[in-house]
Amino acid sequence: MGKPVIEVKKARKVYVMGEERINAVNGVSFTIDRGEFCCLLGTSGSGKSTLLNLMAGIEKLTSGDILIMGESIRDMSENRLAKFRQENLGFVFQAYNLIGSMTAVENVELPLVFKHMGASQRRKRAIAILKKVGLTKRMYHKPKEMSGGQQQRVGIARAFVAKPAIVFADEPTGNLDTRTTAEVMELIKSMAIKHHQTVVMVTHDVSLAGYADKIIRVLDGNIQSIEINENPVNPGQSAGSETYEKPEE
Ligand code: ADP
Ligand code: MG
Repeated sequence: MGKPVIEVKKARKVYVMGEERINAVNGVSFTIDRGEFCCLLGTSGSGKSTLLNLMAGIEKLTSGDILIMGESIRDMSENRLAKFRQENLGFVFQAYNLIGSMTAVENVELPLVFKHMGASQRRKRAIAILKKVGLTKRMYHKPKEMSGGQQQRVGIARAFVAKPAIVFADEPTGNLDTRTTAEVMELIKSMAIKHHQTVVMVTHDVSLAGYADKIIRVLDGNIQSIEINENPVNPGQSAGSETYEKPEE
């Protein structure tokens, strides 16, 4: 698939808690290619979130290095890193992490504010992507007026609106029922395919790994295996997708 967008080189993270040292990530190496949908799969406590947060520059490496689009994030200043994140990365969270006082459209506009886009252009882009995720009738609702699935669709719109090269998702369906999970997975995947974006998703749910092109199994801070999935589930192919309709409210 060409040049890797993410290169993880002997990445290690040790948390020190008083006397205790926790080896959350044990010196792991792998690459992720552009356009790849990559899944970090493992049980709770295996180090998946730590690894994702290292790649996203949210946590600092204890040792090793991580290159994002050829650039090492290890030695970036906080300012540079913050800017790099705004320009290149999108995030989807398990608990949605929407701002409660803001409407759906205002939440989705936020990443564009950092891009110094004018207000009317911002609004246009946010409305267009909210339509794509099936929330035409919920644009001016606040998070607490929406279901979990609807909130996560807002979360996905916010992650993709600025067209980041990479979207990180940590257990994005962790709070959703089975049917909504399939909708959300399809949505993330179809959004990413459209602009050839890379997705790195953390999950403990084996059944979701089927969506991924690359499955990295994590155990106790180590990589157990890296599997290329020749036959990933693509949008429209989910179990039960004969009954799948474009989600609308
Ligand atoms: P997962 O996402 O696979 O459930 P985590 O990456 O959250 O696993 O955690 C891996 C290990 O690191 C666990 O033992 C966890 O308790 C520990 N850990 C995670 N974050 C911290 C932290 N901020 N401080 C101390 N220990 C942590
Ligand atoms: Mg986790």
